[in-house]
Amino acid sequence: MVKFLDLGKVNNRFRAEIDERIASVLDKGWYLQGEENDKFAEHFATYCGTKYALGVANGLDALRLIIKAAGFGVGDEIIVPANTYIATILAISDNGCTPVLVEPDVKTYNINPDLIEAAITPKTKAIMVVHLYGQAVQMEKIWEIAQKYNLKVFEDCAQAHGAYYQGKRVGNLSDAAAFSFYPGKNLGALGDAGAVVSNDKELIDKVKALANYGSDRKYHHIYKGLNSRLDEIQAAVLDIKLPLLDEDNARRREIAKYYRENIINPKIILPQIYDELAHVWHVFVVRTQERDKFQQYLSEQGVQTIIHYPTPPHKQLAYQEWNNRSYPITEEIHNTVISLPISPVMTADEVKQVVEVVNAW
Ligand SMILES: *Cc1c(COP(=O)(O)O)cnc(C)c1O
Repeated sequence: MVKFLDLGKVNNRFRAEIDERIASVLDKGWYLQGEENDKFAEHFATYCGTKYALGVANGLDALRLIIKAAGFGVGDEIIVPANTYIATILAISDNGCTPVLVEPDVKTYNINPDLIEAAITPKTKAIMVVHLYGQAVQMEKIWEIAQKYNLKVFEDCAQAHGAYYQGKRVGNLSDAAAFSFYPGKNLGALGDAGAVVSNDKELIDKVKALANYGSDRKYHHIYKGLNSRLDEIQAAVLDIKLPLLDEDNARRREIAKYYRENIINPKIILPQIYDELAHVWHVFVVRTQERDKFQQYLSEQGVQTIIHYPTPPHKQLAYQEWNNRSYPITEEIHNTVISLPISPVMTADEVKQVVEVVNAW
């Protein structure tokens, strides 16, 4: 069987080093806000090309903290793609802000920059882009709009660690960016973990205080904060795995290239790219009108797949107030997408098998 993602295999490549570093954390007896966090933050900022990084508890918190640190709340509107994982939108509404959904470009599945201006009102404060499925958003037009209307730009980089846009990594394309290191992401921890990166010292300091009960020094609480810190053990694991991220992403690109060149089936729509380095293939998403039948067939043939995602945020019970709205492109995408296995630990035989099975449908 071709597994969608063999996480055991992914992490066992680092087993000896992980065992050793976890033992060293245990020996030190220091579990939060210590050397492992400092080291990882420094290395991750360097990787992204940003001046600062800060580990937090998870990706959703990273997003929530950025919005909170920027000072946005009730009455403020934030533009966000309608076609995203719900976490991006939850982070906005959790702060009391109003998410303003904008349809994607059906070629990239990312927010369509041409539709943003029409969504701007006097209450708009920021544009939150999402580099969905691993492909960097083409930022040029978004930067122009942000400048014209004096808006902040934030990035949800949870699916795109290491992707480039115009020679810069995602995370370094905006005022502040959120990463998730959920185990299945391109850089994954052994549990929940996340980070905020930015070039803005004031903002990062505020995120840091907000993530620690709003405290800038012990027992001084300057904000109504949260508790969202990264464990030393998770920071250590991430620091071990980070040096292999580019190689892993390169392997993902190789598999994606093979799929794109060898999957030939008129019923399948393949993903489109505008630049090799802009995509890190967190998932390899194809579309077909008979998605559920296709998934059933693949499962019978021993190929595991996942749907990213079956129901758009505006059709979820959590956003009942939007259930009657229509975002046709987002809905079409959600009704037709299916993700084929892609991961740095897949063997060449497994990749070939996926292609054969898909072509035989
Ligand atoms: C995974 C993900 C998140 C949330 O990250 P967690 O660490 O699971 O909280 C946010 N946005 C997107 C696009 C994601 O894929």
